[in-house]
Order: sequence, then structure tokens, then C-alpha cells
Amino acid sequence: MIIVSSCLAGMKVRYNGTACLDETIQKLLDNNQAVAVCPELLGGFSTPREPAEMVGGDGDAVLDGTAKVIDRLGNDVTGMYIQGAYEALEQARRVEATIVVLKENSPSCGSSMIYNGTFTGLKIPGQGVTSALLRRSGIEVISEEQLASRLKELDSL
Ligand code: SF4
Repeated sequence: MIIVSSCLAGMKVRYNGTACLDETIQKLLDNNQAVAVCPELLGGFSTPREPAEMVGGDGDAVLDGTAKVIDRLGNDVTGMYIQGAYEALEQARRVEATIVVLKENSPSCGSSMIYNGTFTGLKIPGQGVTSALLRRSGIEVISEEQLASRLKELDSL
């Protein structure tokens, strides 16, 4: 089973109430090969919500307690991001997920790029809180940008 970010499955769960449907992910869902998860909703957020970015490091640093997740109003929402990450991990374990495909750039779901904490649209290398926790737990995390090539690799095994 594959876990995917809910927003990539077309669900309007992003901070601004939009989705970003990925057609390959739609096919996986249609074929019952994927389950959609939104770590931020699992962490207790609703939609719409203030955007948030990590300050002081990426998801690894947040898990280590050396960085925080701050929303655009300046509220410290670190605890909800960590909670959402653990809930997503629980779901991944429950369905015995082999791969998790998460939305790039998100402070929860980013797997190789994140925003730099200044709310200016600038990105830096790094991963979100959920991606970091899943990887620490031995689960493969990729972005939607890597999905097509990863599926080809799996087909050729
Ligand atoms: Fe999409 Fe992940 Fe953000 Fe939820 S937390 S809206 S699944 S990127």
C-alpha cells in the first residue's frame, strides 16, 4: 500500500483551502493502491489555516527540539506538527505502507525542499516534520515529482 498526501489526492485540505491533484496519484487511489493522509489535519488543524514555516532548521531539527514551526501570525505550532507526524506514522504502519508520497515544499510533507522560515517564498533544501519522522522510522518517503520514475523502477523489478 502507498500513503499519499491528501492534497495530492485532490482533497482541498491545504492551508488556503485548495488541492493540488496529481493524476498519477489519482490512478493509484482509483485502483485502491493508495490511502490519503493529511498530517496537518491529523495534528488538529482545520482548513483554511495560517501558513507555517520552520524556523531554525528542518523537520529533523524540529524532532530534535532545536527548531520550531511558526505560523504567519507568529504562533508556535510545533506541537501540532509533531502530533500530525506521529499520527501519519501510525497510519503508515497500520496499512503497512511500502512508500509514502508527500507534497514537496510543505513544512509537514516536504521531502527535499522547504520554505526558509521567512514567509518570502524562498526555498531551501530540507524536509518537513512528517517526512523526517517517517524516514527515521525506516519508511521510504518520496515527493510527487519522483513518483513516476519510482513506479517505473518498481515495475522493472
Ligand atoms: Fe497536503 Fe501535507 Fe499540507 Fe496536508 S500537510 S495539506 S497533505 S502538504
